[in-house]
Amino acid sequence: MPWSLLIRGGEVVDGTGAPRRRADVAVEADRVVAVGPDLAGQAVRVIDASGHVVAPGFIDIHSHSDLFYFACPAAESKIRQGCTTEVVGMCSFSPAPVPPGGSDQMRAWAAGIGARLEIRWTTFAEYLDALRAARVSINVVPFVGHGALRLTAIGPENRPAGTGEMEGMGRLLHEALDAGAFGFSTGLVYPPSAYAATEELVDLARAMARRGGLYFSHVRGEAAMVEDSIAEAIRIGEEAGVGVQIAHVKVTGRENWPKIDRVLALIDRARARGVDVSGDVYPYHAGSTKMDNLLPAWAHDGGTARLLDRIADRATRRRIIEECLIAGERWRTQSMGAVGFDEVRIATCDQRELEGLSLAEIAGKRGVSPAEAMMELLLEERATVSMVVFSQSPDNVARVLAHPAIMVGSDSLGLTSGPGPHPGKPHPRMYGTFPRVLGQYAREQKLFSLETAVQKMTGMPAARLGLTDRGALRPGQAAVLTIFDPGTGRDEATFEDPHRHPAGIPYVIVNGAVVVDRGTFTAAGGGRVLGRP
Ligand SMILES: [Zn+2]
Repeated sequence: MPWSLLIRGGEVVDGTGAPRRRADVAVEADRVVAVGPDLAGQAVRVIDASGHVVAPGFIDIHSHSDLFYFACPAAESKIRQGCTTEVVGMCSFSPAPVPPGGSDQMRAWAAGIGARLEIRWTTFAEYLDALRAARVSINVVPFVGHGALRLTAIGPENRPAGTGEMEGMGRLLHEALDAGAFGFSTGLVYPPSAYAATEELVDLARAMARRGGLYFSHVRGEAAMVEDSIAEAIRIGEEAGVGVQIAHVKVTGRENWPKIDRVLALIDRARARGVDVSGDVYPYHAGSTKMDNLLPAWAHDGGTARLLDRIADRATRRRIIEECLIAGERWRTQSMGAVGFDEVRIATCDQRELEGLSLAEIAGKRGVSPAEAMMELLLEERATVSMVVFSQSPDNVARVLAHPAIMVGSDSLGLTSGPGPHPGKPHPRMYGTFPRVLGQYAREQKLFSLETAVQKMTGMPAARLGLTDRGALRPGQAAVLTIFDPGTGRDEATFEDPHRHPAGIPYVIVNGAVVVDRGTFTAAGGGRVLGRP
């Protein structure tokens, strides 16, 4: 019987870090069945990969696509990067479980990063059923967000969890694990996850230790307190006996940039004493999140409506500004450090004409101070504004990316499909993360070999997640493959012009289906919610 697909004449970079070698790859249905030079056999479809690299499909270890799958199941902007699997439920947020009568809170959270989410579920299992029914084109590895657990068990209040509430959160966590979650994530800068003490997180992590659950953490502070914050994440994993992934490892705020070596040393020392800790990074020196995260945690106590009341109240607004404004020109938060108002740009908001502008520019147009412009904007948009913030060091990005325990995660907030124009000025990582590592960092900067670049995007994340049937290109593995030109594969998206697909990735195969075919995208809808090993 002929194979369903034969990829002939490419150089296989297999995801293990091993040197590339000339080999053909045969696929039968959704499995790789043979890898070797000059395979003899018939196939229904033959792809000529000469001059190209054939690699396992990239795994995005950190994504926020779960807010966008229902509106954009094709996931074109992600798949065209060569990405075939992504990890969602990150930074404390997952679309389930939903608190009783609390779907408005969920919708508001999603809206803050530009997503429209219709909540048609309550439990994590119901949510995963809805996700399967949505026929997403990419494979999904789901985590449950600590924020969703806390909202459901406690609510949006800034207070410690009581005993009954801890039991409630534990029960919800086990329900999510039963349904298929790989673990839980925190976003300790994002209310209500931010309201948890370390002990709460150790207890929760301990509850899933025997089930092999993983703890993924957006840490408590990435600026002045970054070392303590990384140490906290490590401590949670160490005391609970679970694997820890530190999300988007970085140091924000110019004055904190030199701390990066100590941050990486903390990870090295923990690994040396046997703690199962690793991390990820996106290959850009700007981040992106909801603009209301520029306000202190106490201002969020009680949820979005309360936050807006506080901004509208003159005295409270003044208190926020006095707390965060430095010398009238920079804005400092615990989580992000100090940023200039020209370093904060609007990514998406309902006032389309503001997208792409900095807070300094908006303030100039309005004839108010940048801090006031930010407050006005948050009120007008009911806190549903996302931003891009240039608060990181390009040198540090390379340093982190090159670290042997660090893999690649996009942290991207969005998905698009079909011809544009697409709205907003989202962070270009949404389109360019994986090809940027291949082109900018491996080929041009020679930060590491192409084999290492591929490993950081395939074998390493697969091992982190315990996915034994992907992340390496060999017989028996899932047929998730990316074929790219090692000489030209690169990102095209920029901060000014983000809605651009990468170049040099002519084929992407998801579960045996050729989804990107000679550079043309066809939504196959054949993605799966992957099961825990
Ligand atoms: Zn995050």
